[in-house]
Amino acid sequence: MKTLIELGLVEEKILDRVIECPSCGKIHVSTRFKCPSCGSINMVRTEIIQHITCGFVDTKLKFIRRLKGGGEELICPNCKIALREEGIDYRILGEIFECIDCGRRADRPRIEFKCRNCLHEFDITTAKYRAVYMYRTTDYGIKLLQSGNLIRNLILLSLTSKGFRVERNATLKGISGVNHRFDIIVRSGKSLIGVDYRPVSSAESQITDLLAHIAKFMDFPGIKYIYVTDSSSESVRKVASSQGVNLVSGKSITEILSQILELVKRFREEEKT
Ligand SMILES: [Zn+2]
Ligand SMILES: [Zn+2]
Ligand SMILES: [Zn+2]
Repeated sequence: MKTLIELGLVEEKILDRVIECPSCGKIHVSTRFKCPSCGSINMVRTEIIQHITCGFVDTKLKFIRRLKGGGEELICPNCKIALREEGIDYRILGEIFECIDCGRRADRPRIEFKCRNCLHEFDITTAKYRAVYMYRTTDYGIKLLQSGNLIRNLILLSLTSKGFRVERNATLKGISGVNHRFDIIVRSGKSLIGVDYRPVSSAESQITDLLAHIAKFMDFPGIKYIYVTDSSSESVRKVASSQGVNLVSGKSITEILSQILELVKRFREEEKT
């Protein structure tokens, strides 16, 4: 993936970030508001209410709840009168966090995490804040893939890295006097190896395309020829082998590249003997 990014074929974007357990690495993590004093998880946000009627001020948690009709009403714990309408007989002064267990109040709770997988507890200072990436093929990458030039460049790179003398887009004159183009020509000693890569569009057009390439290959009696494609049917392979064409196809680029290298090395060995 790194190489694809460096080549500009794929781009990486940070899509999101997730809290990861520092102990087991899982992201199934729950978040809790904890009391900074007693550590209780019952640190809840509540409103600060002033009962205008009597002047009493406290958090909503301290007001008495009583059922009324289908809902609920709040009773002032000081004067025991029910609160009626905000702005008239009471007002909300603000919000604060309060611990139900020990009564501690704070502007903000202590935020802690608990791993649902290994039950490890940790806080923001030890949590791993992992980036989630999104990968997208760049326009340049799509163009290279569709034209087949990406594969051709990779074949070229893998051959040059193994020390072979190669030529890209080489034109050679056949015995008929007609010029033919090869994607890649490998010069190994006195012999020539022609390599063409053709992306598959359909099974029928593949046979037609292969036959056209066989006709080209026939114009060069001394040449070794490798026809590279993504996948091939039994009939395509039969046609190729009956005409002395070395057909390479595979499930992955790595598989295709290693088959080409094997063939080129074998041709070089054959030449020596
Ligand atoms: Zn864990
Ligand atoms: Zn507490
Ligand atoms: Zn009151």
